[in-house]
Amino acid sequence: MAPDFTGTAVIVTGGAKGIGRGICTGFATAGAGVLCADIDAAAGTELAATSFEGAGEIRFQRSDVSQWQDCQALIATASEVWGGVGVVCNNVGIQPTASYRPAHELSEDDWDLILGVNLKSTFLMTKACVPGMIERGGGVIINTASVQGLQSAKGVSAYAASKGGMLSLTRQLALEYAEHNIRVLAVNPGTIDTPLVDEAIEASGDSQDEADVRTGMGEVHPLGRIGRPDEVASVVMFLASDGASFMTGENICVDGGIMARGSWG
Ligand code: NAD
Repeated sequence: MAPDFTGTAVIVTGGAKGIGRGICTGFATAGAGVLCADIDAAAGTELAATSFEGAGEIRFQRSDVSQWQDCQALIATASEVWGGVGVVCNNVGIQPTASYRPAHELSEDDWDLILGVNLKSTFLMTKACVPGMIERGGGVIINTASVQGLQSAKGVSAYAASKGGMLSLTRQLALEYAEHNIRVLAVNPGTIDTPLVDEAIEASGDSQDEADVRTGMGEVHPLGRIGRPDEVASVVMFLASDGASFMTGENICVDGGIMARGSWG
């Protein structure tokens, strides 16, 4: 049975599209009050207006979560609307296609952008949400890392470093806040069908049909296909639920078995 999040406020960064959208919808369907934080105002507004089955709600707040003021403003909204936040999903992540190159050819600006959005945002959201969680006796932080935090491929130095950093930060935060009943966990998605992957396929300039490229990506996964956002969301929701009450500092692959293969196949 899906966990019940009635009465819980959840913030999801990068929540307007892809995996984040799946997480927003999953929690709202399970009864939560969800605050979707995203730079894409059109997608966020559309999500907040979309109906779903369930008693929860989704609100949207335009936010660049690599910026401290925007992170503080999200916590302020959650406090005002729901009296505080119980679950923070640090899901945002970017992998600009222009950054697919060897490290020495990557611009300093791209390095700073990727690390700022993918990793620093989690530090900033933690700074913003932890005082309230301590005051209310606990909370849960779920970070979206990647299988690329565990193994990698050529040409993605900043992204891989940000995801490795996310896993290390997850362990660190778990240790720091366990005494305050704040659990901190991470998920490592394999390839999931989202706009981020659409962009990667487009940028690859592969002459094959897009559907064939997608099928090829799927075949690398032992389960024979790429994943769906809701398949990551259901694991995030389990980790945030009381069913995972004795878990913290851990990361879980949601990857169709790709890491079991021990390489990128
Ligand atoms: P996506 O590009 O489909 O969606 C990311 C969302 O983040 C978008 O809505 C975008 O507008 C938003 N965003 C970008 N910069 C932002 C900022 N500064 N502040 C707030 N929002 C911002 O990406 P996705 O595929 O859904 O990925 C979600 C997470 O999962 C990322 O952390 C990504 O690294 C990770 N991940 C994805 C895959 C995959 O195959 N899709 C695999 C492993 C890990």
